[in-house]
Parts: sequence; C-alpha cells; structure tokens
Amino acid sequence: MGEDYDVVVVGAGFGGPVAAHKCASAGLKTLVLERSITPGDKVVSGLVIPFYGFLFAPPFIRDGNPPLQKPIRKVVNHFVKNGEIYASDKSLWLPPPLALTYSAYCEPMCVWLADRAVEAGAELRTSTAVMDLIMEQDRVKGVVTDKGDEIRAKVVIDAAGTQDGLALKAGLRRKLPPDALELYMLWDFEMAKEDVDSTFGNSVEFYCAMPDEKITAPLGYGSTFYIFTYRESIHPGLGQFLVTEGKIPHVARLLEEYFENFTNTVSRWKNDIAPKLKLRAKMFDVCPIYAGLDRRIREMPIYGEGMLIIGDAAAMESSAFGDGVPNAWFSGAIAGDVAVEAVKAGDASASFLRRYDERVKAHSVISASLSDTRRWDMRWALPGNDEREMRRRAHELFGRGVWRYRHITGQVLREMKTVLSRDPMVAGKWMKMFNRYNRNCESGYSDPPSSYEPAPKAGIYSEGREAVIA
Ligand SMILES: Cc1cc2nc3c(=O)[nH]c(=O)nc-3n(C[C@H](O)[C@H](O)[C@H](O)COP(=O)(O)OP(=O)(O)OC[C@H]3O[C@@H](n4cnc5c(N)ncnc54)[C@H](O)[C@@H]3O)c2cc1C
Repeated sequence: MGEDYDVVVVGAGFGGPVAAHKCASAGLKTLVLERSITPGDKVVSGLVIPFYGFLFAPPFIRDGNPPLQKPIRKVVNHFVKNGEIYASDKSLWLPPPLALTYSAYCEPMCVWLADRAVEAGAELRTSTAVMDLIMEQDRVKGVVTDKGDEIRAKVVIDAAGTQDGLALKAGLRRKLPPDALELYMLWDFEMAKEDVDSTFGNSVEFYCAMPDEKITAPLGYGSTFYIFTYRESIHPGLGQFLVTEGKIPHVARLLEEYFENFTNTVSRWKNDIAPKLKLRAKMFDVCPIYAGLDRRIREMPIYGEGMLIIGDAAAMESSAFGDGVPNAWFSGAIAGDVAVEAVKAGDASASFLRRYDERVKAHSVISASLSDTRRWDMRWALPGNDEREMRRRAHELFGRGVWRYRHITGQVLREMKTVLSRDPMVAGKWMKMFNRYNRNCESGYSDPPSSYEPAPKAGIYSEGREAVIA
C-alpha cells in the first residue's frame, strides 16, 4: 500500500525544512525525506550566512534562536607576494550589534530548521533516500524511496541540493556542466576560543595572489584562499573549477598542493595561526557558484507538472559570494507558498506552478545574486599580473565596494521595501534579531534540538565523501 501526502519535500538541508515549514503551518500533510542520518549531515561542514539571508528569511528564522557560531563583522583581504602580505583591504566592516554574516555549522543549523518544520506539523524521515519519481502521463505524482516505499503527493518539492538527480528524472533539468562546478577543499582545525578571538577577532580572511604564487585557485577564476572563523575552530578552504578554459586539471591534487604551498610559505599562517591549531578533518564538496551566469543553466526550468525545484537543485548559488543558503531559504519559502496555493486550488499543473518561477525571478536578491559577475571578473587581473587591478576588483567584491547600489545595497533596499510594505513593524524585529543573535553568539545559546540529537562523531564529514580524521 502506498502512502498519500499533500506535499513531499526531498532533502532536509537548508531549503527543504523552510518549504516544509510553510506547508505544514498552512495545515498541509507534509513529509520531508532526508537520505542522511541527521539533517545537514551531508551539507558542507560549516559556512557563513549573510545578514540579508536572515532579514528576508521566514519569520521563524529571524525571530528564533538558531545555532550560530560567530557574528562576522569584518572581511579582511590580504594580498600576498613571496609569502608576505604586502597590502590588506579591511574596508568592509559593520559595528556591533550588526554583522555582515554569521558563521554556522551546517548540521546543527539544519537540525534546528528541521525541528521547526516538525513543530509546525511536518513529518521528517531521515536515513531515507528518494531513488525515483512516480510519473503518470509525464506528471510527477510522488516518490519512491530506497526502501521501496511509494509515496504519493500532490506536489513534490525537490530540495536535494547539488547532487540532485530527481529533476533529471522528471526531464526538467540536465546535469550541470563541469565548468560551472567548483570543487572546494576545506580543512577543519580546532582552535581555542581565546586564540580565534585574539588572532581574527570577528573577521574572516581572504587571501589573493597572482597565479605564480601557487597558493590560491590554481587557475584563477576569482577563487581566493579563505579562512572562515567559528567559535572554537577555523576552516581554511580553496576551490577550483572542474574544467577551466577547456583544461581538465587534477583538481583534488592541485588543491592539496596549493594548500601545502600556502601553509608552508605564508608567514601569517606559519607564525600567527598554525601554532594554535589542531587538525580535525579534511573534506571536499562541489558548489555550482557560476551556474547562474550560464545561460544554458539559467534557462532550465525550476518547475514542472507536480514539481517545484529549490535552492542548489535549481542552481541558485550566488555567483559573487558563493552563498547559497539565502537563496535556498527564499526559494524554499516561495515554493512552500505556491504548494499551499496549488493544493488548495486542487491544481498542481505546470501552468499553475508557473507562479513559482515568476516570484523567484521577481525576488530582488535571488535575481541579482545569480547575475553578479564580480567574482568571475577577478580573472581579468591575472593574465597581465596586474596587482592594482586585482586589488581594485577585490575591493569591489569583498571590500567597501560591496555597498555600491548596483551590488548589495540596491538589492537589499529593494527587498526591504517589499517586506516593509507587507509588515511595517518589521524594522523593529530586524534590530531585535541583530541584538539577540549577538547575545546568543556571545553566550553560545540556541534553541535546544527537539527532534534529533546530532550523531556524535570524531570529525565532520561532507557529502559522504572521504573525510580524513586527524
Ligand atoms: C565548500 C562549500 C562552501 C559553501 N559556503 C557557503 C557559505 O559560506 N555561505 C552560503 O550561504 N552557502 C555556502 N555554500 C552553499 C550552501 O551549502 C548551499 O547553497 C546550500 O546548502 C543549499 O541548500 P539546499 O537546501 O538547496 O541544499 P542542501 O543544503 O545541500 O540540502 C540538500 C539535502 O538533500 C539531501 N538529499 C540529496 N539527495 C537526496 C535524495 N535522493 N533523497 C533524500 N535526500 C536527499 C542531502 O542529503 C541534503 O541534506 C557552500 C557550499 C560548499 C560546497
């Protein structure tokens, strides 16, 4: 016997629980299926989520106590030659209690999000992978799990992330081309809180260098070496596209080699940072950072008969900052609303669900973040070894240039206007949010997990791939 739901959400990463929360709150019979043991287990270990993600996320996130690690108030761009920092751009900062971004570990964050969806009435099944779709006359009518269960749904929301295969099975999307996919390698180091605070304060660091230095992305393309900071750890990382200008490098080997070069040559790392570290894990994962800039990918549908596709599964990662969480939240909330309308109208046809596509395209942050070429354009500084040009472009991308109207300010102000027109009291809630998040990060407080205890483990894994535990 099959089971029947109004909505099945595939994936309990960042976007899935948001869509499920909307559907369950509206009284729909909602099921979330997640292949890993705990939500967020297969997402990258840790990341930083920009403030506008929280401002425009559904109220339960903005008004809640998610498990955030650290408010990041400053971005430091170091420019390196022969292992020495010859210039630094520290122009991008905000005073407390504001923050540019918040660092967070994915597993507790996604558990927290899934808990909220469960509290709203959604059912969550973990360790359950969706293997296939139930298709009837080219319409998605449900899913088939790895246990062979057939689960029917009026609407299926595909929130399965970058590794998604369901939209392909539905005939809606094609595989992402390798030149749009960046492999990232991350190293997870323990560092005492006092050391993180004294070495980095509330900042993250980006390192830029010319290709000859062999410390940032092997073939350029705007990929800097970064260090994200958490309460008691740091994650350095660097990335490289799978194919660049037709060349297929041995990406994993190059990233290892460049990381080694960085740690062996850059004085700040060797003297100020390395002595305070203990390696916990090493991991890698792919992100579709430049997918939005590729017309072929942009033109692939994000909805079909009985199906909506959100977040990374719809290639919505921001092309400038590589942040995909805000767009996963925004598209998840829009998909949830549209699924509720479709179920109430008794119409999950593609022509009804088209409104999802229209609302995603009308969203100021999603549309601007997918068409931002600043990071892509960093490459133009490389061929002529033009240091001034590299610093100018880095200033536009991760320095004060961010605040230009055509970059962040315009999209944030436009979205603020939209949200304020719906709820004029929201400005007060935003200020309360910044203050509460600030206090929570200081004290380490977050809402206790209600449905899941994160599985205890020695290190942090990503995407089910090999992780090396020190
Ligand atoms: C190295 C790296 C660094 C990043 N840094 C940042 C950052 O700093 N800031 C930022 O905002 N974003 C960052 N991102 C991007 C961010 O992780 C994603 O954009 C975000 O997680 C997308 O959310 P999602 O819900 O679409 O997909 P995900 O969060 O990936 O969730 C997908 C979920 O679906 C599950 N799933 C997949 N297939 C199935 C199936 N068949 N059946 C059941 N479940 C399934 C997965 O296990 C997973 O839990 C980074 C990504 C990487 C790889």
